Amino acid sequence: MDEFDAIVIGAGFAGLYQLYRLRELGFTAQGFEAGDGVGGTWYWNRYPGARCDVESMDYSYSFSEELEQEWEWTERYPTQPEILRYLNYVADRFDLRGLIKLATRVTSVVYDNETNRWTVETNRGDVVSARYIIAATGCLSLWQIPAFDGLESFRGSTFHTGNWPRDDIDFAGRRVGVIGTGSTGIQAIPQIAKQAEHLFVFQRTPNYSVPARNHLLTAEYQVSRKKTYREYRERAKYSGGGHSAILPTKSALEETNADRLAEYERRWERGGAPLMQMSYTDLMTSREANQTIAEFVRGKIREIVTDAETAAKLTPVDYPFGAKRLCVDIDYFETYNRGNVTLVDVRSAPIEKITERGIVTGGYEYELDAIVFATGYDAITGPLLNLNIRGRDGRALNDAWSAGPRAYLGLQVAGFPNLFTITGPGSPSVISNMVVSIEQHVDWICECLMHLREHDIESVEPLIEAQEAWVAHVNEAAAATLFPLAKSWYLGDNIPGKPRVFMPYVAGVGAYRRKCEEVVANGYDGFVMTSRQEREVAISK
Ligand SMILES: Cc1cc2nc3c(=O)[nH]c(=O)nc-3n(C[C@H](O)[C@H](O)[C@H](O)COP(=O)(O)OP(=O)(O)OC[C@H]3O[C@@H](n4cnc5c(N)ncnc54)[C@H](O)[C@@H]3O)c2cc1C
Repeated sequence: MDEFDAIVIGAGFAGLYQLYRLRELGFTAQGFEAGDGVGGTWYWNRYPGARCDVESMDYSYSFSEELEQEWEWTERYPTQPEILRYLNYVADRFDLRGLIKLATRVTSVVYDNETNRWTVETNRGDVVSARYIIAATGCLSLWQIPAFDGLESFRGSTFHTGNWPRDDIDFAGRRVGVIGTGSTGIQAIPQIAKQAEHLFVFQRTPNYSVPARNHLLTAEYQVSRKKTYREYRERAKYSGGGHSAILPTKSALEETNADRLAEYERRWERGGAPLMQMSYTDLMTSREANQTIAEFVRGKIREIVTDAETAAKLTPVDYPFGAKRLCVDIDYFETYNRGNVTLVDVRSAPIEKITERGIVTGGYEYELDAIVFATGYDAITGPLLNLNIRGRDGRALNDAWSAGPRAYLGLQVAGFPNLFTITGPGSPSVISNMVVSIEQHVDWICECLMHLREHDIESVEPLIEAQEAWVAHVNEAAAATLFPLAKSWYLGDNIPGKPRVFMPYVAGVGAYRRKCEEVVANGYDGFVMTSRQEREVAISK
């Protein structure tokens, strides 16, 4: 059996950087990636319109100044192909491909009490052993399709946005149904509408969305940003959401109505998620403040969509602005003014079944040539539980998390020694610019591994009390915001039977990073570290 210091599962932003750092530090490592290319999210999500909602110059690695200086982004919000090119460039530039076994899915990860090592098995028959397991499996890599009656009988083509084929799909002359109006649906719908003969959008929950106002980046802009990249990056590290922009200082309720509207209007014109993040301090903590921006965006929907009935269906009314992942779009609401687009409300008349010809709702059969499932992912915990992890004494992670995930700092789980989860539950992850959060986790894990090596320590895992206290803190932080007031995948609401727990840590990447730094400064406070002698004595008892 091949033996390594570490196995890294996944080769997206997290896996690539993790492998790079391990090699630089002299650890032996093997990466496994289910896809037949690197890139993670940006390898799988090739649907039309796929693009990042964080600005390109923020949504990129900061670990190499050379990389930062030499890579040229072309657009404010990068497209999926551009990010995939970037990640392939990173894999080549830092010579990472030799460390990764592609098209290889990890199927089980089992800890051995006696040897304090993990055995990893894959769908290609690999059986390898490692001291450390680093799950870089991503928060949004396990796509899901709800169990619709009759799904298998549909004779047309089906697609999931999160597992889009490599070939160009041409919807010209076809009747297409899109199920789902979350972030991916909202990006794909305007693009598919431009091609399809007719597009039917099956919407259960209307979403708030703000225009991207995407544009090409000028050379001058890039040059000037690159001159101050270090300062930007430092600011992002200790910010709220991992962006370099300066945070607001004022409550929405301190402003006059006219000033507030002017502020929202200015930010709406500038485009992107800063409308939520940068306008006022209390949009996600005060219902009254949130109502001001929710009403502003509702007004925009009514202004853009010409048919009043369609506009009403597209307007979210029963949850706060931003409580579900805020969507950033290019011509989303405008698309409903096209003659070849029909909005079908499946909240009032849920999808009854899928037939060989199409989708039945409200007793009516919509005949279709293709169905696009923009139905999202089993977020955050799904890819981890899918690994079939068994920790100390054979305990399955699925059992340890049967009532919802419990992890210390989103980095480790009690009872699973030397297992690390990048952007795991209880860390800022999907609430932040994820590249910032990924780099922070990889750096923290590397510092921890170096500490173990230097001090001849064999294993590290959280103390159960520290883990429970952190879980309670994560819940308190969420409860102090408006996030739990919406049904969302942050809470697992999109997966039937998934325990309803708010998974990301919402207090901000800066506060979180400081906590992680403090834990290290206090001698890995909350973690228990065991030397070989201590472990052997414990086993012999
Ligand atoms: C459509 C979409 C848009 C997004 N937009 C943004 C955005 O605007 N801003 C932002 O910050 N984030 C965004 N994200 C989140 C995005 O996932 C992260 O920003 C980032 O790409 C995550 O990198 P990662 O390496 O952690 O995970 P991923 O990129 O998901 O990579 C994980 C990899 O692990 C592999 N894997 C999983 N399980 C196994 C297994 N058992 N065996 C082998 N391999 C396995 C998967 O195949 C995958 O390639 C978006 C996500 C999606 C899906």
